[in-house]
Amino acid sequence: MPAGASNTSLVMSDWFRDFKQQATPAQLYDFLHAMPKGGDIHHHLSGSGMGDWWWDIATNLNKNGGYTYYTKTDLSLCRGYGTNEFGTNPQLLLFHTVSTLSYEKLSTCEQDNYTALSELNQKQKQAFLNSIKLDKPHEGRDEFFQAHWQRMGDMLQNPYIYGHLLLKNMQAYQRENVLYLETQLQISQMRYPDGTPYTSDEVVQILSDTLKSDAAKKTNVTVRFQLALVRFLPDAEQQLEKTWATVNAHRELFVGINLVGREDNDKGYPLRFLPTLRKLRAKSEAIPLSIHAGESDEPNTHIKDTLLLGADRIGHGFNLIEDPDTLLMMRNGPYLVEINLISNLLLEYTNSLDTHPFPEYLRTGVPVTLSTDDRGMWSSNLTDEYYLAVKHFNLSWEELVALNSNAIKHSFIGEEKRQALLLKLEQQTEDFINERLNNTPLPNIENHFPFICSYDPQVCNKTSKR
Ligand SMILES: [Zn+2]
Repeated sequence: MPAGASNTSLVMSDWFRDFKQQATPAQLYDFLHAMPKGGDIHHHLSGSGMGDWWWDIATNLNKNGGYTYYTKTDLSLCRGYGTNEFGTNPQLLLFHTVSTLSYEKLSTCEQDNYTALSELNQKQKQAFLNSIKLDKPHEGRDEFFQAHWQRMGDMLQNPYIYGHLLLKNMQAYQRENVLYLETQLQISQMRYPDGTPYTSDEVVQILSDTLKSDAAKKTNVTVRFQLALVRFLPDAEQQLEKTWATVNAHRELFVGINLVGREDNDKGYPLRFLPTLRKLRAKSEAIPLSIHAGESDEPNTHIKDTLLLGADRIGHGFNLIEDPDTLLMMRNGPYLVEINLISNLLLEYTNSLDTHPFPEYLRTGVPVTLSTDDRGMWSSNLTDEYYLAVKHFNLSWEELVALNSNAIKHSFIGEEKRQALLLKLEQQTEDFINERLNNTPLPNIENHFPFICSYDPQVCNKTSKR
């Protein structure tokens, strides 16, 4: 018997091997949905809102801090606008959404192209909801990086919207038995309806009020935040210094820093940040870093360079497979790779999961876990990631347990809370095993998120033999 393996978990291992072979897609999915999951530690809060979650809060003045939003429903030409730092001209995007303040600054001609969100007709509303997810075959990486975020416009500057998306995520994660959420957000751009900036203390207050609400506490999902900054902007170094100071002042909630933004923009190369990080670490205690690296379909040394920055975790690590020295160094090591299968597939880093490097990392001892990245954009959840992994890579029970516990072991929550969460996961897993071995019926899933139903319709087919 391997050290640490109980007799029950060995029995479960055999049970799961048989179950996988006999289960229908719906049965396997239901099993993975009910399985206690350690956490989702690669999660962007603004990218993790489903369309209707955005809609509900953006159109509710009483709950959203008093903002009214207008969205672009017509592209009639008024006058030219230049592209922004993301290489996009948001004025040319349907469903580009602005607050009253920005709306009033538009020319009358341009105002005629916008409609108040709450006044959209049914067809326009559906198109608005579709505009913030990747739901069409031609929509891929460019649509995601160059259009989706730009469309959200001023809604990304409203901390009440973030609070709402946070609560909706916590409630959704409770339903699929996720214990911990470590989510990334940016707070420096938050603005009151009149354009006055929020202080970081004010944003922290709104987030912590959300976490203290009865609705949030009822979920039993533990949450911590990473502050993210866009890596290729001209003032990214200064942003990093400010972000460091904000995390330092609110370490009870903010547990790490992340660098985001497409990696094929050379201006955000990892080593750009080394002098700044060294300067910051000379002045105060280190802040844990989880950094996007290797989300690329060509070989480079970004993962090695990112480890040199002091990162403890790598987001995606997709091209690690093409950097043998770093891959060897990471085997059985302390650094974890956060794997996002659906994201990599939809943003076209791989054409098929059959060639994804995840199983090679998992089975050569590179610490990995599964996470969702921007689940609102894919209309998916964490169970979908586990389902795809089991289906494509034939995961064993032991591998599932390791993926789940890695999400907590490598979290930035701090030692005491980490141990408490690990214990909770162990206890819940033990109960889950006993229920499965005793054939206790699995709870019915009321609604699937759309991704899995189009990926594998049999999962959602309630009439098939279950
Ligand atoms: Zn990400």
